[in-house]
Amino acid sequence: MSLGYLAEVVFLGTGATVPTLERFLPGILVRDRIGDAILLDSGEGVQLRLAQLGVSPSSIDVIAVTHEHGDHVNGLPGLLQSMYVGGRSRGLTIVAPASIAWFVSEALEAKEDRLGFKVDVIVAKGRGSLEVNRASGDTLTLYWFPVCHTVEAYGYSLEWKLRPRISLEKFEALGVKPGPWLRDLLERGEASLESIRVKLEDVIGRSGVTVKISYTGDTSPCDDYVESIRGSRVLIHDSTFHSELEVEARGKGHSTSKEAAEKALEAGAKLLVLTHISSRYRGFEARRLLEESRKVFSNTLLSRDLMRVTLGPLEHHPRS
Ligand SMILES: [Zn+2]
Ligand SMILES: [Zn+2]
Repeated sequence: MSLGYLAEVVFLGTGATVPTLERFLPGILVRDRIGDAILLDSGEGVQLRLAQLGVSPSSIDVIAVTHEHGDHVNGLPGLLQSMYVGGRSRGLTIVAPASIAWFVSEALEAKEDRLGFKVDVIVAKGRGSLEVNRASGDTLTLYWFPVCHTVEAYGYSLEWKLRPRISLEKFEALGVKPGPWLRDLLERGEASLESIRVKLEDVIGRSGVTVKISYTGDTSPCDDYVESIRGSRVLIHDSTFHSELEVEARGKGHSTSKEAAEKALEAGAKLLVLTHISSRYRGFEARRLLEESRKVFSNTLLSRDLMRVTLGPLEHHPRS
């Protein structure tokens, strides 16, 4: 029996620089099964796509912005406004480079006495992390790392670390019933009961699992971020141009679809999703980017607005 997926990634905007009806500007919503909601970039149109999904802006816990270019941040004022109008009281965390932190606190005056909710702004600098959630030994952490664009820019990874799952059958075989001391067992690896000493390895059904996704934002295919995206289950990479425009890509601090594929290969990603697609590739023309990427990295998808990628499934331990 499957417990379904761990998390889903929904592409709210997959275009670059200027919006088209087909592709709004960058925004990626990541939601997991326990209710965490993280928005990566907040381009123009993000609110409309959220409305199409039936997702309230107020359900978002963390907004992580890659860099100061308008196509990645112009949706933020409207989003904060809607959270205010919606009567949000829960705090919001924004992770962004210093330029955006200034924009949020000074230009938008995103302060508790004005909005009715607290806005914690964390300035991304170098490499860093934020623990988004910790529940019963499972954790979700957001990591940021520098990428190579025309201005200071960061990529983000989200990493779920799931605790080992206990096997009830193995407990029963030992003649004990799980109780409140289980937490000790999970944290310390063993627990003493009145009549028996239980070691974690004796009752483990599934060892701990790490699931990671990464988003580069706008970047040239430099070496700086390869270690940070290594082992991603899903890698969402800048793929603004086809390689016939490699010179233009370099000049503008972007990647071609072929370069995105090479990075996915180098970093050992499982799935590559091409995004930040130039508006010059309309309709089926954009498939040229996909075809080019698949020649290097076969497990590639071309993003489109409202496309959904699920992570998982998590396996369930059958009782027999
Ligand atoms: Zn951009
Ligand atoms: Zn940019």
